[in-house]
Amino acid sequence: MGNGGVDTGDLAAAITTGDRRALARAITLIESTRPEHRAQALELLDDLLPHAGGATRVGISGSPGVGKSTFIEALGLHVVDADHRLGVLAVDPSSRRSGGSILGDKTRMVDLVRHEAAFIRPSPAGTTLGGVARRTREAMLLCEAAGFDVVFVETVGVGQSETAVADLVDLFVLLVAPGGGDDLQGIKRGIMELADLVVVNKADGDLADAAGRTAGDYRNALGLMRPRWDGTPPPVLTASALTRRGIDEIWTTITTMAAEAADAGEQDRRRADQATSWMWDEVRQSLLDRLTSDGHTASLVTEVEADVKAGRCTPSTGARRLLVAGGPDGGTTTVAP
Ligand code: GDP
Repeated sequence: MGNGGVDTGDLAAAITTGDRRALARAITLIESTRPEHRAQALELLDDLLPHAGGATRVGISGSPGVGKSTFIEALGLHVVDADHRLGVLAVDPSSRRSGGSILGDKTRMVDLVRHEAAFIRPSPAGTTLGGVARRTREAMLLCEAAGFDVVFVETVGVGQSETAVADLVDLFVLLVAPGGGDDLQGIKRGIMELADLVVVNKADGDLADAAGRTAGDYRNALGLMRPRWDGTPPPVLTASALTRRGIDEIWTTITTMAAEAADAGEQDRRRADQATSWMWDEVRQSLLDRLTSDGHTASLVTEVEADVKAGRCTPSTGARRLLVAGGPDGGTTTVAP
């Protein structure tokens, strides 16, 4: 990346021609935490925003071992065979630069990784889920500007990351495995409520019957929950990522659901809500960053925290003191972007 000397205009132009190396460089730029890189990243994103938004954005989640990588390889190859250009991104707050767990192990995506119509990028390293998710959101916009018309965002099914991904995409797919009994695999109700489509994977061989029963269990459970925007419960399909059975039906279902949502104005509504909530997220995060990135306010944080703990001031007064100190006129010299 050099020493901050990126010509964002040139980079933006290269991205809109579909230049993958430019896209990869731009994603590295948005993942950088250096203030001068951040300023360039925002400039680049503003430049490219008119070119973004054109993809069908699909979130894919499920517990470890359910078959996400295998499924993304199968569905991804189906999508590129249908002449789409596919970007695959991930939100994995546990990943580290050296060994992200999601997409880091690409051995199950050998053909997709090699395909010239696919662009696969592991999760950015980050300390907070919010930070990782917002960089992924920006990477998604860059992929769209580069002409990728389908984007998958993968996340591992462990709590809050599903909510973050559902906030990024048009359609959220929950992948489950055939399970014994009716416990619905301990998947939390909140996560089921995010699903627009449930896929019971591994519906092959000895597991085929169990997959059918699991699908029935999910249909029953989802039928009792809050319906989707059009009043229907999320469809439940069975598939085998391994044998690729059911993959074409899943893609047809996804494209049909996406088209219906777009026609009804639901996609625009969802994206508008998402953009607003991302903006407020950014405001919250930037305010917090300001408080901790500056030595003066950081020590004030410690002091105010001690005062609140000891009952020397109320939490409200403490909060006010910090907000004043962290605000634009708070006497700090650095302003985090
Ligand atoms: P992830 O952890 O969710 O990404 O799951 P993986 O894609 O790594 O798959 C976990 C295991 O499940 C691997 O051994 C896969 O071969 C296996 N697997 C994935 N999909 C299927 C499937 O459709 N049928 C069967 N029988 N096994 C599968």
